[in-house]
Amino acid sequence: MAKQKVRHILGLSGGKDSTALAVLLHQEIPEMEYFFCDTHKELPETYEYLDRIKARLGIKIHYLSENRGFDHWLAIHDGLLPSPQMRWCTVKMKIKPLEDFVGDDEAISYIGIRADENRDGYISTKPNIKPVFPFKEKGLVRADIIRLLEESGIGLPDYYRWRSRSGCFFCFFQRKYEWVMLAQEHPDLFQKAVEYETNHKDGRTYTWTDGETLLELLKRKDEIIAQHEKLMAQEKKAAPKRPLFESLEIILDQQDDELPCLSCHL
Ligand code: SF4
Repeated sequence: MAKQKVRHILGLSGGKDSTALAVLLHQEIPEMEYFFCDTHKELPETYEYLDRIKARLGIKIHYLSENRGFDHWLAIHDGLLPSPQMRWCTVKMKIKPLEDFVGDDEAISYIGIRADENRDGYISTKPNIKPVFPFKEKGLVRADIIRLLEESGIGLPDYYRWRSRSGCFFCFFQRKYEWVMLAQEHPDLFQKAVEYETNHKDGRTYTWTDGETLLELLKRKDEIIAQHEKLMAQEKKAAPKRPLFESLEIILDQQDDELPCLSCHL
């Protein structure tokens, strides 16, 4: 019997690291299959970025979960919104679609964790899907990723001005400053997130962000922005040559209590 061909897969999240990985590998591995797990709740900037990636690299992207987005799964979970403790969203909308896409085939899954990052992931544990980490193997760090993106003409996603990660617009891993900026950049999406929070019906109060509702948080907008600007000024003083987006990423990363899933935010 002929030996089964090993598939090569790369999940794009709409973030900079997975995109840079596609830039790095698209010529080296022409048979690479690119996929994007669409929650139907991504930022418009993410969909635009994916179009840019396709156009620049001349690749095809498989959009998984095309017919079943967040609202479908929310109904299946009786309206129970996901949280860091109950992360059904990642399992149903990121991990499972990937595993269905691969089936029982042998596959190598290329993952864009950088050499300067100390994290592992919430990734598929199916034995036929073997994760590899090319940036780590090649010792590539944040500056290399930026260079790859600039040289390819793709650049950074537009949301990097105010948010450091891809993912659902209401992601509960979002930091307070990012919520405030969501309200400013996309008031309609912020309003939608407020509606999800308000309509949550399992007999307890649900808040997307720790300790307060989104409307309460928005009342503290000036305070949150002032605190953020103070941290940015300190960062600028400590590293005057560092690009703004990088300072933003560093400051926001310091505010993480828990690391988010890789499948959403690479
Ligand atoms: S981005 Fe956040 S809300 Fe969306 S699937 Fe990932 S963890 Fe869940």
